[in-house]
Amino acid sequence: MKIGFIGLGNMGAPMAANLVAAGHEVTGFDLAAPCPEGVTKAASATEAATGREVVITMLPNGAILRAVADEVLPAMDKGAVLLDCSTVDVESARAVAEQAEAAGVMAVDAPVSGGVGGAAAGTLTFMAGGSEPAFAKVRPLFDVMGQKAVHCGPSGNGQAAKICNNMILGVTMIATCEAFALADKLGLDREKMFDVVSTSSGYSWTMNAYCPAPGVGPTSPADNDYKPGFAAELMLKDLRLSQQAAAAVDADTPMGKEAAALYTTFVEQEGGKGMDFSAMLPRFEKRGRG
Ligand code: NAD
Repeated sequence: MKIGFIGLGNMGAPMAANLVAAGHEVTGFDLAAPCPEGVTKAASATEAATGREVVITMLPNGAILRAVADEVLPAMDKGAVLLDCSTVDVESARAVAEQAEAAGVMAVDAPVSGGVGGAAAGTLTFMAGGSEPAFAKVRPLFDVMGQKAVHCGPSGNGQAAKICNNMILGVTMIATCEAFALADKLGLDREKMFDVVSTSSGYSWTMNAYCPAPGVGPTSPADNDYKPGFAAELMLKDLRLSQQAAAAVDADTPMGKEAAALYTTFVEQEGGKGMDFSAMLPRFEKRGRG
């Protein structure tokens, strides 16, 4: 396929490289990042999008996505697909899809989970929103860049799935960390705590697969001085998106709200920026109830 790729940062570059390796013809554009090997550099987003069957965007946020969509949609062929893999607010995803439809372009929002490691290994999970024909057209690309793609319904539903998942993840990470810190103070050995919880009803991905306690459970960022992994500021971004969406539809999300508040303090005032999101554990270790 002839593919345009806009946004070649930490995630976009390895995703584009995997498309090239699978034999696709990829033209890329980024304001700052270099093109990975095999990707033809375009001078503008419009140039990267012109004459392509699929244009993939992997950008920082909804405002930038909207600006790029304004620029590229008029240049895209009718029937082409704008495939946004960024994590953005549901509202922007739906607005861009409407704008695309008006321009005769199909739109799919397909945020990912799996991080930079998953992008490099081609093992991302895609959560997609959009029409059935649009999803069918880009499905082969999901197969190259990832190991699983779920069609979640109409436009915006991919973003909805992503922020709901990550709201659970943020809340669960906090619960796991505060429980470890409580166990410490109760004199319960961390290894015993892991043995019990990982096979009891408190088990979770954060405990079993990504344990925030160094030296306990499988290898995780905790074993690497809490280097990300999944950075605390990216978790904060997703928690904020979940609360923005909750406010827009009047959903009561007290735990998500509290998680967003805790990660805000952690990232903005407690040195959490640049650390893995599991570094909530050393944060709790140092604190009392006050
Ligand atoms: P990044 O900052 O490394 O990459 C974004 C790229 O977009 C940058 O290279 C930037 O120069 C480029 N860019 C910004 N504005 C542009 C414009 N107008 N035109 C062209 N290029 C432009 O970020 P990332 O880590 O690659 O993340 C990309 C998206 O993926 C984000 O929405 C993020 O939330 C999401 N995501 C990231 C991870 C992760 O672990 N990094 C995991 C899941 C989802």
